[in-house]
Amino acid sequence: EYKGMSKERMMEIRRQNCNPMTMKVTYYKKPVYIHQGHMQWLWDVDGRRYLDLFAGVATVSVGHCHPKVTAAAEKQLRKLWHTTNIYVYSPLHEYTEKLAATLPDPLKVIYLTNSGSEANDLAMLMARLHTGNFDVITLRGSYHGGSPHTMGLTSNAAYKYPVASGLGCHNTMCPDVFAGPWGGSNCRDSPIQTIRDCSCPQGSCTANDKYIGQLNEVFATSVPSRIAAFFAEPIMGVGGAVQYPKNFLKDTYKLVRERGGVCIADEVQTGFGRTGSHFWGFQGHDVIPDIVTMAKGIANGFPMGAVVTTPEIAASFAKGVHFNTFGGNPVACAIASSVLDTMEEDGTQQISHNVGTYLLTELAKMRDKYEIIGDVRGKGLQIGVEMVKDKASRKPLPPAAMSEIFEDTKDMGVLIGKGGVYGQTFRIKPPMCITRDDADFFLAVFNQALHNYMEDHH
Ligand code: PMP
Repeated sequence: EYKGMSKERMMEIRRQNCNPMTMKVTYYKKPVYIHQGHMQWLWDVDGRRYLDLFAGVATVSVGHCHPKVTAAAEKQLRKLWHTTNIYVYSPLHEYTEKLAATLPDPLKVIYLTNSGSEANDLAMLMARLHTGNFDVITLRGSYHGGSPHTMGLTSNAAYKYPVASGLGCHNTMCPDVFAGPWGGSNCRDSPIQTIRDCSCPQGSCTANDKYIGQLNEVFATSVPSRIAAFFAEPIMGVGGAVQYPKNFLKDTYKLVRERGGVCIADEVQTGFGRTGSHFWGFQGHDVIPDIVTMAKGIANGFPMGAVVTTPEIAASFAKGVHFNTFGGNPVACAIASSVLDTMEEDGTQQISHNVGTYLLTELAKMRDKYEIIGDVRGKGLQIGVEMVKDKASRKPLPPAAMSEIFEDTKDMGVLIGKGGVYGQTFRIKPPMCITRDDADFFLAVFNQALHNYMEDHH
């Protein structure tokens, strides 16, 4: 039973004392006042239960207040809260050894941070110092952080401020085979995997070449002949679960390396088994990055981030001193360590694969039934449902319509997310403990919300 502050008082404080931007993103017309969480469930202050398919943006990886992780946190809280990593203490070393074991050679040197933005900031700095070059390329529509430096990597106007950010940052066209100029239904109806390995007749698909052509145009027009880095998520997150055509990352990595740059995979959302088939999203592209950044699900919601790189890049970075007070905090490390153990014990990657594939398959059937579902894509539990005015135009479903379906889904007890540059994509990225029954519940609710919308408007 909830005995805390009244909703009215919370809203009053929110208006007066909180970052006003968070007013806009209370997300719902009628805000959700969360009280408690357990695994895939959240309860509001009135005792209503929600199935949480957004997980604080793919952050609650093994489940809200997972008993095992909570116990590990409590144990560490009684022993040692903090000391900086100028000292040697076991939680840091136990964790970094375990994390390193999940990554392929030569990705073995770990820097712990407190957020994803901080991790990407650090990765950008490392890339510049290591290569001696300055320019960085990202994909249009991507999100890589909100700090002044990472705001330059981010390519979504909603998160941009008119300040001097992004010196040396450039964007290339996002290889989106659904909404982009190249691609098509053959590309869209690909089997469920990290990349869009289209079913176009052998050798006939030119979408990837065209998008790579755009990258070559950036090389020819916007950057010096040698660059510092290329950043991309294996499957876009905030950008709306956009998947790239087969070989896009592989070809891009080659071109970037030819120009002296390093390749950075932002695994903030796709890491830790979320894509199901692999523990790291980049493994689904058959590439090995030079730097990998991670955060969100790393510690199931406890603030933490990490940069992992090669001994060679680490050696270049060691020419200066890098210090971070909270990076490698013992409590964060104990939690993150327990998260890795829990993932193995609970089989979360397998759940991502099984439940994710089921959801994608069923959602694809709904896409064929509803005129306003343009595209269903993603891999594992990193799923996007792109909503359109109609299938022929592929124009984004307007925000008011998105909001109506979104609100209705919430009122029926399921929390999902929104994304895409035009806010046109529903995002599903639940804690990786959901069951097939949960998936069925969501599918029934979502179907009802779409049905209600169509009844009212068509
Ligand atoms: N990279 C990606 C892919 C993200 O989705 C986010 C957060 N949405 C970030 C980086 C930034 O992480 P943080 O909010 O922890 O700074």
